[in-house]
Amino acid sequence: MGTPLLLHACCGPCSLEPLRLLREEGFEPTICWTNPNIQPLEEHDLRLRTLMDWARDVAHVEVVIAGDDRERWERAVAPFGFDREARCRACYALRLSEACRTARDLGFSHVSTTLVVSPYQLFDTCHEVLEGLAAAHGLTTVWRDFRDWYPTATTRSRELGMYRQNYCGCRFSAAEAAIERHEARDARKAAKAHIG
Ligand code: SF4
Repeated sequence: MGTPLLLHACCGPCSLEPLRLLREEGFEPTICWTNPNIQPLEEHDLRLRTLMDWARDVAHVEVVIAGDDRERWERAVAPFGFDREARCRACYALRLSEACRTARDLGFSHVSTTLVVSPYQLFDTCHEVLEGLAAAHGLTTVWRDFRDWYPTATTRSRELGMYRQNYCGCRFSAAEAAIERHEARDARKAAKAHIG
């Protein structure tokens, strides 16, 4: 038996590599879902369903559904709007405090998050938030830099036919991602015109 660990999961595709690598290290993860940041609600439900199907049919890992307080997210996070650093810090704090509370209530001593696999996330901010919350709940943080495995996670999730979203979760990130895609497309067009 490995060391029990509560692994906060932001979605199915981001869970693939952390689960595999933490198991290899000798941990026995249980996944914890608490993501009231995902908008709209249909998108939230689709990501949760994707995670649950993979957990049951492929990964054989238990999933605990913790609180998903969407109104609280609106009060605590949405006011930061497009101030990305402040907004994401508050969003990590909301979700990871619920994960830590759940871990403590269920008797876990170790906690981690799949947020660490995505290069999009604010790695150091997330680390700082999790360390503080884990300490406040008497838990040990298992913090690893899984970002090198992001391309593998992309490939594996495609092979598994998993739903893959193209924005982090909130409406602000959906707008930011759309703008980035437009800018990238314009840059490609400009480069092509230049070559021509
Ligand atoms: S970009 Fe992602 S982490 Fe940041 S506030 Fe939005 S949903 Fe939360």
